[in-house]
Amino acid sequence: MYGDLDAIERIGVVGAGTMGSGIAQVAATAGYDVWMRDIETELVEDGLARIDDSLARLVDRGDVDEGTAEDARERIRGTTELDDLSDCDFVIEAVVEEMNIKQDVFSSLDDLLDADAYLATNTSTLSITTLASATERPEQVVGLHFMNPVPIMDGVEVVVGEKTSAATTELAHALAEDLDKETWEADDKPGFVTNRILIPWINEGVRAYDEGVASKEDIDRGMRLGTNVPMGPLELADHIGLDVALHAAETLHEELGDRYKPAYLLKRKVAAGDLGKKTGVGFYEYDES
Ligand code: NAD
Repeated sequence: MYGDLDAIERIGVVGAGTMGSGIAQVAATAGYDVWMRDIETELVEDGLARIDDSLARLVDRGDVDEGTAEDARERIRGTTELDDLSDCDFVIEAVVEEMNIKQDVFSSLDDLLDADAYLATNTSTLSITTLASATERPEQVVGLHFMNPVPIMDGVEVVVGEKTSAATTELAHALAEDLDKETWEADDKPGFVTNRILIPWINEGVRAYDEGVASKEDIDRGMRLGTNVPMGPLELADHIGLDVALHAAETLHEELGDRYKPAYLLKRKVAAGDLGKKTGVGFYEYDES
């Protein structure tokens, strides 16, 4: 049944990184059987370990009961073989943000999956339409842009490509809601809603810091207290990863012109390897705890 959520039993997730492991976790918690694929055994194991940690924290906090967490974990199988995803009804791609790598994944999945299976991408900035053009089923390709950390964040952005059918769009909303998320819809335009607005906000925070408008702490405090957001632009950049923020700014700059030009200091920090929380230094310093 085209576009029908009842027809979706097995979900494939390609990429077991930050986002892929989170997506696998929420899909399994909602009762779907999940195959999660990465390119190396160690990366698959890291992804599964992240899921174990995350489920344990949710159980500790009383957000998920122990039985549900155990059932979810049993429903997730990790693999390095794309072929293991062949009987999946809906596959969500969450590999690195590179068009050619994602297109290769899409093209291989298109050859592998049944004709009525759906393909979604978790891309932050790349064109759904261009990704879908690597397949023979562009009407069954849609953007499902989960937010980080996936098990905690409530929202998913549904992105509609040039050829995405109304039934696929409807199914994407229904599936995200079934994973206990709320959705909004964006057309396939650079950055969609969230990154189109978020990335220049971060970029301007970096520029304001670089130009001496205020200390980094006061820029973040000012935006937190002044606009009621949970994190200011510099702390949020550290959380996302400065390399990820720079990559998004560069993609948007290419598509939308000078107003998206990455801040010089952002480029310098990435060149120095200070990528934020994940390297222990970004705009702030972090220790293990
Ligand atoms: P990540 O680097 O943590 O994980 C990506 C994983 O993909 C890696 O483990 C890598 O080995 C794997 N991979 C690469 N090629 C592969 C292939 N051919 N098959 C299977 N796995 C492959 O990255 P991430 O932060 O999880 O981001 C994944 C996607 O989600 C990107 O498109 C990113 O733009 C998007 N996204 C990220 C965030 C975020 O805050 N991190 C938020 C929303 C969307």
